[in-house]
Amino acid sequence: MKNLLVFVIFIILGFNLSAQSNGESIQDHYCNKARNEQKYHDAMLNALSIEDLSFDLKYYRLEWKINPAVYAIDGKACCYFQAKKNGLDILNFNLSTQLKVSEIVYHGSTISFTQTGTYDLTVQLPSALPIETLDSLTIIYAGVPPSGGFGSFIQSMHNNTPIIWTLSEPFGAQDWWPCKNGLTDKVDSLDVIVTTPDKYRVASNGLLVSETQIDSFKIFHWKHQYAIAPYLIAIAVTNYEQYVDIVPLSNGTQLPMLNYVYPEDLQAAKQGTQNLIKVLQFYDSLFVTYPFYKEKYGHAQFGWGGGMEHQTMSFVINYSWGLLAHELAHQWFGDMVTCGSWEDIWLNEGFATFLEGLTRQRFQQGTSWWDWRINKINYITSVPNGSVKVDDTTSVGRIFNGRLSYDKGSYLLHMLRWKLGDDAFFRGVRSYLHETQFNFAHTHQLQANLEQASGQNLDEYFKDWFTGHGYPSYQINWNQNNSNQLYVQLNQTTSDASVSFFEMPVPVLFSGEGRDTLVRFDHLFSGESFSVPLDFKITSVKFDPDLWLLSANNTVNQVTSVHDQLPEELIHFQVSPNPSNENFVVTLELKKPEKVILSLINATGNIVTQQQLEFNSDRKKIILQRSNLTAGNYFVRLQSTDWQYTKQLILN
Ligand SMILES: [Zn+2]
Repeated sequence: MKNLLVFVIFIILGFNLSAQSNGESIQDHYCNKARNEQKYHDAMLNALSIEDLSFDLKYYRLEWKINPAVYAIDGKACCYFQAKKNGLDILNFNLSTQLKVSEIVYHGSTISFTQTGTYDLTVQLPSALPIETLDSLTIIYAGVPPSGGFGSFIQSMHNNTPIIWTLSEPFGAQDWWPCKNGLTDKVDSLDVIVTTPDKYRVASNGLLVSETQIDSFKIFHWKHQYAIAPYLIAIAVTNYEQYVDIVPLSNGTQLPMLNYVYPEDLQAAKQGTQNLIKVLQFYDSLFVTYPFYKEKYGHAQFGWGGGMEHQTMSFVINYSWGLLAHELAHQWFGDMVTCGSWEDIWLNEGFATFLEGLTRQRFQQGTSWWDWRINKINYITSVPNGSVKVDDTTSVGRIFNGRLSYDKGSYLLHMLRWKLGDDAFFRGVRSYLHETQFNFAHTHQLQANLEQASGQNLDEYFKDWFTGHGYPSYQINWNQNNSNQLYVQLNQTTSDASVSFFEMPVPVLFSGEGRDTLVRFDHLFSGESFSVPLDFKITSVKFDPDLWLLSANNTVNQVTSVHDQLPEELIHFQVSPNPSNENFVVTLELKKPEKVILSLINATGNIVTQQQLEFNSDRKKIILQRSNLTAGNYFVRLQSTDWQYTKQLILN
């Protein structure tokens, strides 16, 4: 889901967000639809309190009569279910009690039920079912749905024509049809059959299997045969024009991209969806094949101020690049795999935002990709705190916080790409998708797959960037007292006390004499000093020139007094020759007997070799074998329980 309002406001305010009050006001605007937040707070608690795990939903046939000129619904929901306990005789569904159930049919007879509270529909079976029994029942209901949340079931006008559309995320499905309103019970397949006056078309999930005229009405029958979460089931009804773009996929499929658009916007739509063909092919090649390739992808235009990633048919207000790229990305991240709890909504929204950024990097000229990054950094750091992890899952506004769930979530991924490297990052994401496909996921599953792909432990990273609040600020001190040795000290403060230090690889660009070199410092504590062998005179030092890091208020200072500041426990530490094109020698002397760990670390932060050394009061010489190490930047790190020190080593 993407609300365009926040985007527009941010552009208007530009970079002059003078901090916190403005930042938070954007957040409020973003959540302008959360006016019924309290209602939804109650609704979700209500839904959670009765989410019924004693049966598993397998299939739905949903039949509705909708006239977009009349705000009402008339429906029949047939569901197949399986008993998950012995003696199942009561089934709890969620359905607004503003919608009146007239009867429930089971094995050809009506059975008893009650509608209580705000959303409780309790069905009494005539006899108890043994565990694993497959069975079915049909709920017949009608009424005027409540309005709230991001919409749920909304009527509006476009060009003097009425439209009714639905948008159930996060808790709104129960406003218009009987469901289990949680995240984890996906049905395996679905039929949606909608009758409407024949001047209208109905958009929905899956394939349109028939369009039948009866008198002045049309019946649209959509069939979807992939696992689907309740909030991703949707319909939209108005006087749509339709057309199809064909997208060749990596597996040879000619995928139809079916577009239902307002007649008055047909030309703009055709331009926008044409541009999306290469984006769909890009995602298809980058991760796994388009998940629903046996059916379709599509768009249906609607009146909400953004877009919503309904499975196989995104609903969008317009055909702008960013919106279409965002909603399409959700088909992988937010449809095929859905977040397993609202705490993890960034697995949907952070990925969709991040992928939109990747399309700017790949396809757009000029400053588009740079602007994407700098805008994200400025917006996220306009407020000193806030975590990617949703710390209040009863608040619609907090779940869909644009600054945190979307933008900070996307930068969490962007920084992982930098930390792990493209190869390990994209392999890890692909294996995460394979593991969780057509199911739901939690953050720890993504972490485990990225750890497996990279060989790096990411506990600290996720503790700082997922659970923790805020961002770092860097102060870089450097000097070059003699022409071929550069000393750099990296200091860091954090914007929120929940994180004392962000361990990150820090890129710094050193330039002079018409040359430059980008050094990646493996930054493990504030005040850490590095010595870098450089054979040219530095005149310019630029912190993070490619915007890999989420940080703000950074400073770079050339100082005269800073020198190679050894920790006081360390009398001598030398690596020679440096640069080296063969084996090299580390010479060490410590003030007092101590155990230390000597590590050789490569430019991506991975430990290449490591050994424990036990010191008495002697000076030690350790010869490290070049063996088959490739040329490049390395770091030699010496670490005790109380201190550590790192030197850069260049292998030619
Ligand atoms: Zn989204």
